[in-house]
Amino acid sequence: MDSLFSSLPGLLLPWYERNKRDLPWRRDREPYHVWLSEIMLQQTRVEAVKGYYARFLDALPTIEALAEAPQEQLNKLWEGLGYYSRVRNLQKAARQIMELHGGIFPAAYAEIRALAGIGDYTAGAVGSICFELPTPAVDGNVLRVCSRLAADASPIDRPQTKKALTASLEQVYPAGRCGDFTQALMELGATVCGPNGTPQCERCPLSRICLAHRDGIETELPVKSAKKPRRMEEMTVFLLHQDHAYALDKRPESGLLAGLWEFPHVPGKLELSQVLAQLDAWGAIPEEVERSSEKTHIFTHVQWEMRGWYIRCRTLPEGFVHGRPAEYALPTAFRQFLEP
Ligand code: SF4
Repeated sequence: MDSLFSSLPGLLLPWYERNKRDLPWRRDREPYHVWLSEIMLQQTRVEAVKGYYARFLDALPTIEALAEAPQEQLNKLWEGLGYYSRVRNLQKAARQIMELHGGIFPAAYAEIRALAGIGDYTAGAVGSICFELPTPAVDGNVLRVCSRLAADASPIDRPQTKKALTASLEQVYPAGRCGDFTQALMELGATVCGPNGTPQCERCPLSRICLAHRDGIETELPVKSAKKPRRMEEMTVFLLHQDHAYALDKRPESGLLAGLWEFPHVPGKLELSQVLAQLDAWGAIPEEVERSSEKTHIFTHVQWEMRGWYIRCRTLPEGFVHGRPAEYALPTAFRQFLEP
C-alpha cells in the first residue's frame, strides 16, 4: 500500500498542472479565500458556489468585516446554500481570529483546527494549500480515489478508514508542493474518478497503478456501511399573501435552519376543510385558496414532505411578520413554493 501511495505525487502533480480547472478560489492562496471556498464547497457543487463566493467576498472582503457582519446579512449572503450552521461558524471563527490571533489567519495546524466549524478536512486543506503543511485533506473525493487505487473495501464512512488513509497520505506529501498535491487529489476525484457512473480510467494518470482498474472493480468501490433511513416529516405550509406581502415567521435561534425565516406551517398534510379551520384559528380572512403541488426537501437526517396552500387574504393574520420574501433569508425548503 505505501509504495502504491508513494508514486502518487510523481503521477498526479504533472497531470494537475495540465488539467486543473481555473476556479476563482485558486487564483491566490489567501487563507480567508481558501477557507471560505472550502466551507462553501461542503455539500455544494462548484458551479453553484461560484456566484455565492464572489458575492460574499464583495460584501465582506476581510476577516474583520466577516467578524462584524450582522446576522441577517450573513443569512442573506448564504440564502439557498443550505446548512446554515456553516455561515454561523464562519463568523464565530472570524471572531476567534480577531480576538486570539490579531486578525491574522493562524498558520499552525492545531490553531487552524481549533477554529469554529473547522474539522480535520478543512484544516488539512487550508494548512496544505495556504501554508504548505503536509496535512492531507481527506473528503469523499479523496476516499473514493484512494479506495479504488488500493482496491480497499473498508467502508469509507468509518472514522478508522479515514484515519488510516490520512496516516498513509501524510507519509507521501511532497515538500514544497503540499498545496498542489491536496488539490490534485481533489481534482482527480471531482473530474476523473467521479462518484456517479463509470470512472474515466482511460484519461486517469493513475490507471497504470490502480488496483481496482487492474481488477475491473472500479464501479464496485468505494464501499459504504448501511445508513439509517432519514426521518420523514409531513407538513402543511401556508403561503398567506396580500398584494406582495406574505405572512412570515422567524425560526428558533437553535436547531435546524436556526434564525432563518419560514412560512407558517403545521404538522401533517391538511385537506381544505382543515386548512379553513386553521385560517380561522389564526384570524386570517381568505379570498382565494389554491393547493400547490407536493414538495420535498431533504436534510441530512430528516426529509420534509410538504403540501402548500396559496391563500390570498383580505387581511393577513396578526402574530406574523408581513413582508416581501425577497427581503428575508428564506431557506430553499420554503422558497421553492414561490418558484414557477
Ligand atoms: S484508474 Fe480509474 S478507478 Fe483508478 S483512480 Fe483512475 S479513474 Fe479511478
